[in-house]
Amino acid sequence: MGILSGLEGFGLGGLANADIFGEDKPEQKPVKEKKEEEPKSQGVSEADLIFSKGFTCPCCDHEFKSKTVKIGKARLVDADMDLRPKYDYIDSLKYDVIMCPYCGYAALSRFFSNLTQAQAKLIKVNISQAFQNSEAVGEIYTYDEAIERYKLALANAVVKRARASEKAYICLKLAWVIRGKGENLDPELSDYQSQLDACKKEEEELLHSALDGFIAARQTETYPMCGMDESTVDYMLAVFYYRFGQYEASAKLVSGILTSNTANKRMKDKARNLKDEIVASIKGRKS
Ligand SMILES: [Zn+2]
Repeated sequence: MGILSGLEGFGLGGLANADIFGEDKPEQKPVKEKKEEEPKSQGVSEADLIFSKGFTCPCCDHEFKSKTVKIGKARLVDADMDLRPKYDYIDSLKYDVIMCPYCGYAALSRFFSNLTQAQAKLIKVNISQAFQNSEAVGEIYTYDEAIERYKLALANAVVKRARASEKAYICLKLAWVIRGKGENLDPELSDYQSQLDACKKEEEELLHSALDGFIAARQTETYPMCGMDESTVDYMLAVFYYRFGQYEASAKLVSGILTSNTANKRMKDKARNLKDEIVASIKGRKS
C-alpha cells in the first residue's frame, strides 16, 4: 500500500498511488527544533490545550475553524534523537495540519497561507471535485484522525506541486505522529502487536520518504528550509542514515556539522553524541 492510501474517507481514494517525489531529484535533509521548558501544571487534559481558531481558506475563500494548540500552553519536555518534540499532556504534532472542510485544501500550518492561484486551481480540479468532508467531531483529534489529515495534506502537496522540502516535512511529521500512535496504543488490545508492527512499518517508510525528499531539496532549495537551518537539517538526515544502518553517509554529515562555522553548540553536541553512536555501532558490527 502506498503512503497515500487511507484517503477514501475524503472521497480521494484515487490518489492512493500518487508518486510523492516524482518530479523531484533526491538529495538530503531533515527536520525539527525544540523549545524552552515551562513550569508544569497539574490536572491538565489535552482538550484544555487546544482551541478552535478561525481561518480563511486561500483556495476557496470560505471561513472555517480548526483545532489549534494554544501558543505557550503546551510544555515541551523532551525530544527524540531525531528531534521529534514531546509535550506534556498533548501530542502537538496531531494539530499541525489545517484543513478546509469546504474544498479539501489542507497543509501544514507553516505553509497554509502560501498558495498561488495556479496551485489553487490544481487543488480545485484534483482535490475539491471529489472531496467529501469527514471532519472530526470530537473534542480532540484521535491519532487516526490526525493521520488522515496529514495524508490529505500530503495529497494536496503532491497535487499543488509543492517543493520537495514541504512534502518531505509532511512525511517527517506524519512519521512522528505515527510513532506517537504506536507509543499510545493500548497494550490490552487483542491486536496490539499487529497494530504496533504496522505503525513501525509505516513510520519507517515515511522516514525513508522524508530522507529522499530532503536530499532532493538540499540540491535545489535554500535555507532556512521549513524553518530549519542547514546544520539542523543535516543532523536529522544523519540520524535517519544512522537508523537505516548507512553509517558512512551518516558520519559524513556529522563531520560536516562538527566542522561547520555556522552550526550552534547545541547542534554540535548532538552531532558529537551521534558520532559516538555511529562508532559504537560500527564496532558492534565488526565484532
Ligand atoms: Zn477551501
